[in-house]
Amino acid sequence: MPELTETPQQADRAKTIYEKSVPGRRAFQLPPLDDLIEEKPLEDLIPKHLLREKPAELPEVTEPEIIRHYNRLSRRNFDLDTGFYPLGSCTMKYNPRLNERVAALPGHAQLHPATDPALAQGALQLMYELQEALAEITGLPTVSLQPSAGSQGELAGLLLTRAYHADQGRNPTKVLTPDTAHGTNPASVTMAGYEVVKVATNEQGGVDVEDLKSKIDDDVACLMLTNPNTLGVFDENISEIASLVHDAGGLLYYDGANLNAIMGQARPGDMGFDIVHVNLHKSFSQPHGGGGPGAGPIAVSERVEPFIPRPQVVKGEVEIKFPDEHLPEGFESGDMDHKEPFYDLDYDRPKSIGRLRGFQGNFGVFVRSYAYILSLGGDGLSEASEQAVLNANYLKKLLSEGRAGKYLPVAFDRHCMHEFVLSGAPMKKELGVKTLDLAKRLLDFGFHPPTVYFPLLVDEALMVEPVETEAKEHLDAFAEAIEQILEEAESDPEIAQNAPYTTPVRRLDEVGATRNPRIRQNPS
Ligand SMILES: *Cc1c(COP(=O)(O)O)cnc(C)c1O
Repeated sequence: MPELTETPQQADRAKTIYEKSVPGRRAFQLPPLDDLIEEKPLEDLIPKHLLREKPAELPEVTEPEIIRHYNRLSRRNFDLDTGFYPLGSCTMKYNPRLNERVAALPGHAQLHPATDPALAQGALQLMYELQEALAEITGLPTVSLQPSAGSQGELAGLLLTRAYHADQGRNPTKVLTPDTAHGTNPASVTMAGYEVVKVATNEQGGVDVEDLKSKIDDDVACLMLTNPNTLGVFDENISEIASLVHDAGGLLYYDGANLNAIMGQARPGDMGFDIVHVNLHKSFSQPHGGGGPGAGPIAVSERVEPFIPRPQVVKGEVEIKFPDEHLPEGFESGDMDHKEPFYDLDYDRPKSIGRLRGFQGNFGVFVRSYAYILSLGGDGLSEASEQAVLNANYLKKLLSEGRAGKYLPVAFDRHCMHEFVLSGAPMKKELGVKTLDLAKRLLDFGFHPPTVYFPLLVDEALMVEPVETEAKEHLDAFAEAIEQILEEAESDPEIAQNAPYTTPVRRLDEVGATRNPRIRQNPS
């Protein structure tokens, strides 16, 4: 495979926006000041101590340069609109454009976060109804939309757990999580000041109930679990697990990142969970992956409800008094009076853990998820989950045949839910090709790689989540690409070991990027 060399034109295009700056260039033209506005020196308009001493160092570029610059950058990324994106645990499903149109309506997009509730009734109604829909989907009565992400939902859940126990005069110190847990689970536990205790996984890929029993005592505040778990395996022992934890006085927290497998089919509340977070940016079609806004609402059981964050969006009523002087003929005073719903922010929650954020600035996320839920309806959500599970099982079957079956066996091979995990250990041993090499080579075939090296308990893990919005031919093509990569690796493993060849950048120094991050461009 030839090394790609950069042409001078490519090097020029790779300049930063600061390097493209030429003094005096502008992307706008202001009209001359109106005659009526008296021209005054800046100092008269803005207090001197608030004025800059020298102008800000901003890039000076024309509008076409800006458009070209950012358009070029946008094409250097792999994204959902480019191709198949089976990134396990992340639920990279297609986000309907309809939701974007709804979120962009001026009443949604231009709403100021400090607007008085009386002037934001539509937005509050939308938030209230989204709370109600998520309550129905999770099987728990009360929802708070405050957490900004799944991980903040976890932290909120743990703070709720602490408040719940403290209210009963208890202070248990441990939180149990399976060894398959997503990294954010133990991280949130530690941030909340609890001790993490790992629970082992049994041969079917579920919680090892005997190990759980040996670790449960009255010092356990909570068990954090996702079901199906990160192996894509549904734990049938969930009722027994729930009783064990509840009997010892603990709560059950459900990491809802895998809700795409069970929406409309099964509800965490019915399984016995007390607190659930939902990743609106995974299951409910908020675009994600670029670091943009997400949302991790939590749903809670009755006994946890008094502690939820404040303010809470609530629905009440207002009396509408019809003015007597405008009464139509034949009507008497009071005849036209009626009540209307009034949506409000309830701050009066004395046991609340408090605010998790200043303003609900991620409102657009709620609009998209609300539009998604309403446009699919209960049956549609249920069908989406069914299709997600069917796609995963279809792809798992394809990959259990041919070379993939030989070099990439399925870990915990049983009927899977929305995702499954392969182990690249035989591929590494027999071909010298690591899971990372395979992932990089997939990029040359136009596929985003699956999640790699997670969950940790599978050696050389490759976690595949095809999602419901992919057509059969894409699943077939993905399996075919893996077959081809393995076939070429049998004769020349170096091809995969040095991949990718066709991407804007090749292998990155990932350790260096973590240890010594340079996150800021020096302007000169
Ligand atoms: C994505 C994910 C999380 C964390 O959610 P964020 O919204 O990224 O903070 C937690 N658990 C699992 C299983 C996940 O896949």
